[in-house]
Amino acid sequence: MPTIKNKIDKNVPAIIEKLGYLLNPFILNFTTEGNRVLIFYFHGIFESITQKDLNHIDPQNNITVGKFIEFLEYFLHHNYIFIKPEDLLEELNKDQPYAMITFDDGYFNNTLAIDVLNKYKIPAVIFITTKNVFENNSFWWDIIFKYRTKEYKNFEAIRKEQAFLKKFKHDYIEKYIEKNFGTISNKPWSDIDRPFNSAELYNISKNPLISIGNHTHNHAILTNYSDDEIKEEFAVSNKFLFELTGSIPISMAFPNGNFNPSVLNIAEEAGFKFVFTTQNDVNILPFVDSPIISLNRFMTKNTNITNYGNFARLGTTSDTLYLKLKKKLMFIKGGMILLD
Ligand SMILES: [Zn+2]
Repeated sequence: MPTIKNKIDKNVPAIIEKLGYLLNPFILNFTTEGNRVLIFYFHGIFESITQKDLNHIDPQNNITVGKFIEFLEYFLHHNYIFIKPEDLLEELNKDQPYAMITFDDGYFNNTLAIDVLNKYKIPAVIFITTKNVFENNSFWWDIIFKYRTKEYKNFEAIRKEQAFLKKFKHDYIEKYIEKNFGTISNKPWSDIDRPFNSAELYNISKNPLISIGNHTHNHAILTNYSDDEIKEEFAVSNKFLFELTGSIPISMAFPNGNFNPSVLNIAEEAGFKFVFTTQNDVNILPFVDSPIISLNRFMTKNTNITNYGNFARLGTTSDTLYLKLKKKLMFIKGGMILLD
């Protein structure tokens, strides 16, 4: 039974979002957008909605190539300069707003985006799950989605099963997939759901616009692993990427966004300069002087870019605004209790 609190948590951000559509353009007239880097994360790219409807891949967080072009043009129109992680090693202009495009996982379908990026001369970083590339295996969350959709399971049940598996290490997930769907399920169905292969990844690494980042070897949700296992995840994927591309990545993105202070320390020891989270927030320049810098990323939605772009340009989302508001209200409430 949803409680009143749950109802508020669900409905207030939606109201804030609708209000934002109306108010944000007005507020943006009086806002300066310099000294910031807005980073966005994408996963897969569809050629069209028809391709999405084939259900070869979990559509969550994926976008059509048409929407991707709209996204690029929106930020170019608002004078943002697109950069990649290597550009953060140089001093940036503090009056200039910057944006960065990141792709997680290493889907072959990202080729559709790279074609567009080449045309617009816009850089991006792609975070690679190296074992999937090495073995040419489907990603496990897509396997769940594809097979359960075929069984007419609803979205909610699929999400629940995926969320359950995210509590485990990769060896458990692999056994679960094998037991439920057979080894054959690891074989991708088409170019829509397959990862890059080694030859394709090698070619991409030679594209000066594309930076290659680490996304662990097994898409390991690092907070489920021991320190030694985390080290191993970074080392194995770095070795694979080095042997293939000739360079060691300076950046990594946490699978599923999960990290803690210990994960961060190990990432620093592994030599990464930048780690990418899934915390929906802006990055303000200049960064603190630290051997490793943790960067926030906005999730890109499939909805209207003007609407979510407005929120991102203000350095927020309806959810983060709601959380801030809630914290303020709790602070006031706490203060009133103290006065009692
Ligand atoms: Zn991922």
